[in-house]
Amino acid sequence: MRYILQNRWKIRKVGDESKLVYYGLRNWPKNKRQLIPLNSEEVELIKRLDKPTELSVEEKTILDKFIAEKIIVPHSEFRPDSTRDNYQMCTKCIANDYVIPGLEFNEDGVCAFCQCYENEKPDRTTSLLTIDEDELVENIKKRRHASRFDVMVFFTGGKDSSYLVWHLSKNLKLRVLAACWDMPFTNDSSRRNTKKLLESLPEVELIQWTLPVRMFEEAIKKQYETLGLFCLCPAPAYPLFYPIAKMYNIPYVMWGMEDVQASVIEYIFPVPSKKCTSEREQTIQVLKARAMPNDLLEPVTWRSEVHNYHASLQKIFEPLYAPLQKILEEAEKDKEMEIPIIKRLRTKESYGTWQSLIDLLEKEIGWEMPKNQKNQLHTSCMIEQVKDYTQFLRFKNMESVFFPQAMVELSAAVVFGHLSREEALEQFKELGFFEPPKMYEFLLNKIRNGN
Ligand SMILES: [Zn+2]
Ligand SMILES: [Zn+2]
Repeated sequence: MRYILQNRWKIRKVGDESKLVYYGLRNWPKNKRQLIPLNSEEVELIKRLDKPTELSVEEKTILDKFIAEKIIVPHSEFRPDSTRDNYQMCTKCIANDYVIPGLEFNEDGVCAFCQCYENEKPDRTTSLLTIDEDELVENIKKRRHASRFDVMVFFTGGKDSSYLVWHLSKNLKLRVLAACWDMPFTNDSSRRNTKKLLESLPEVELIQWTLPVRMFEEAIKKQYETLGLFCLCPAPAYPLFYPIAKMYNIPYVMWGMEDVQASVIEYIFPVPSKKCTSEREQTIQVLKARAMPNDLLEPVTWRSEVHNYHASLQKIFEPLYAPLQKILEEAEKDKEMEIPIIKRLRTKESYGTWQSLIDLLEKEIGWEMPKNQKNQLHTSCMIEQVKDYTQFLRFKNMESVFFPQAMVELSAAVVFGHLSREEALEQFKELGFFEPPKMYEFLLNKIRNGN
């Protein structure tokens, strides 16, 4: 019998070590074994298995554990990538193995993501700096005199940050400073929504920061050269706005991350919890990861991809970070120095479906969906489809282990009850996975010709 290394596995050098890396998601709990260290004997043997190969008895013994785990398989069990016309889709959510090649399913056709959602119990307080709204309000009461503002919110005009500003201002009666990094790809509906929000919430104050177009163009060029992506969001928000929060003694900076955006870090590759670190220390860690220069890592884990994203943007926007670096330096020296605490809000009333959220925002602040757009996942950026397409290409070509985000998020939205499966399927058609989006060609031309 001839054996072969199963599709989507690849040997990668990480430092001096060789590892087997899986580009996909294995059925739970094997999702914890996507990166497997190899000894030199195993490396030599497995290297030969990129094509069907006879194995001697001794060789088979050495590779036994890989055969048992179906990482090395008889040639007849090799599983090629699905095609855009013939793929498997999860029976619970809408994740498919065309957009995420190497996605595994159990006997019931349930995908590996859904298996993780069912079996993992995320510890939100430690992994994502979550705070309950009662606790937030209580803490702020104690130090109301310290600042003109209770909370700064990173704001885009999209549905999630609009909801956050509205909820904090209207329901919790907090004094909100909305901070908006205005970038050329912000769509028109977001700009209109921002204006209407300020009219409907007369207590809310807004700062907008626009970087020079030249800096922005150079940034997307470098980001593409470094990581094969065009996305810069929301990196500049930290160096531009955190120092302002510090200057005004604002106790909290709210992170507008939605549950579907956090699904991978919470359920698929959770961080081991560090219970003893204070919220001040956690904030410093979050800021350091973004503000301090870092080398790029071999992109073999989801976490190393996130690290690289920050590291690349830090290099690109290096000059912007000086004020933030200074704050971090001082905070490390003076442990008593108060700094704005970064938190993600856990609301008491979950807003239910995305449609009911959008209806609420429409009624309360005149918020509108982008014209000609049905998908409710991302509502503020013009190059979302480009993000979809570039992430997809890199994942498919096994250059990245970072899942095409929108596929994961839209699927999670079904599981978490924001969308029906039918709605999600309808919205999925609009995402940029099936052919190169127009903006993709436009951006490629722009960075190649400089116009
Ligand atoms: Zn699923
Ligand atoms: Zn974006």
